[in-house]
Amino acid sequence: MAKKSIEDVDLKGKRVLVRVDYNVPLEERDGKMVITDDTRIVETLPTLRHLSAKGAKTILVAHLGRPKGKPDPKQSLAPVADRLAELVGRRVEFRGDSLIDEAGLAAVKRAADGLGGGDFLLLENIRFYPGEEKNDPDLGKRLASLCDIYVNDAFGSAHRAHSSTEAAAKAAPAAVSGYLMQKELRYLGDELEKPERPFVVILGGAKVSDKITVIDNLLDKADAMLIGGGMAYTFLSVMGQKIGNSLFEADKVDVARAAIDKAKAKGVKFLLPVDHVITEKLDFPGKAISPPRFTKVGEQIPDGWLAVDIGPETIKAYGDAVRGAKTVLWNGPMGVFEIKDCAKGTFAVAEAVASSGAKSIIGGGDSVKAVKKSGQASKVTFMSTGGGASLEFLEGKVLPGVAALNDK
Ligand code: AMP
Repeated sequence: MAKKSIEDVDLKGKRVLVRVDYNVPLEERDGKMVITDDTRIVETLPTLRHLSAKGAKTILVAHLGRPKGKPDPKQSLAPVADRLAELVGRRVEFRGDSLIDEAGLAAVKRAADGLGGGDFLLLENIRFYPGEEKNDPDLGKRLASLCDIYVNDAFGSAHRAHSSTEAAAKAAPAAVSGYLMQKELRYLGDELEKPERPFVVILGGAKVSDKITVIDNLLDKADAMLIGGGMAYTFLSVMGQKIGNSLFEADKVDVARAAIDKAKAKGVKFLLPVDHVITEKLDFPGKAISPPRFTKVGEQIPDGWLAVDIGPETIKAYGDAVRGAKTVLWNGPMGVFEIKDCAKGTFAVAEAVASSGAKSIIGGGDSVKAVKKSGQASKVTFMSTGGGASLEFLEGKVLPGVAALNDK
């Protein structure tokens, strides 16, 4: 069901509470916490500029890190308020009043009322409250009491039923989506529901168990599925190949076999790596491997060796498949891309996807990191800001933060 958006409501002079995903990476430098990547803040600017232009008084609520329900100065959102003010070019007031204290709540309300139309107020890390992750209805009501309209623009947090993503939306007089949320739902949802064909899906990453529901769901839609990364080796083992010490999930053999059978039954091309970069020792996350070598096509992985990346023939085959596509979805690295000797396959796929001319959708997390690092980001159609959220959405799950918004 389509959800109402900020374009469907009258925002002028209204107090608007926006749930954003400002869970940015921070680094301590000279005793100060510094933001090392502000993408998540930048991505919310279209929504914030729209609210500013309409003269709304906007209160922003977000989480940062895992403070486990207790205040922690190192996980304060204060540096985000400063960076946001620079980016948005408006006043951003930062407030740490306690929302579970009546006086604190009243102070926030007064501050919001006192905002110049178009200015912003950012609240302190909502995970400083134990109620947040418990989806405490009382905390949700308190948040909702601050606003006339609740907006969810935090796709990356929408898979969690927390107070600020679900309870607050349910308690608010109106609950709608922001532009970033709409964009994520469009590219990961609508665009993949009726994709322009051929539709090629590339899936990688460590584990079959993390992706099996995604695989199953996308086998109903894709024309081809290319598998790489650690999870490929459980599939290869099912196909009767020797995989040495490569990642293997014994309890996922049946689901891997079922996926292969489903692909066959549905006529979906199911491609697995035909050659590999292998090594005898992987020191990870120590970021080192013993000298690697390539296997030849048809060669088994010897005992004592493990696969850490796809080989050149696989890169070629996957590149060919992507070049013929009209829509490509990619999620998960092809190898241990954090280590230079095992990164070639992942970067080759990033390059192939970006230069394919297809509508290219990157499903969050490591693949987005790889695309950015490869310098190809401007060539892809869409990069999701959600890691876990994008995976759950691709599994076909209803995200609680989306379900709680008002239907159109
Ligand atoms: P995921 O979080 O499931 O998307 O997996 C990402 C992780 O998978 C990255 O940290 C990669 O280093 C790791 N990975 C990818 N390929 C392999 C492989 N062949 N063996 C071990 N780990 C891998």
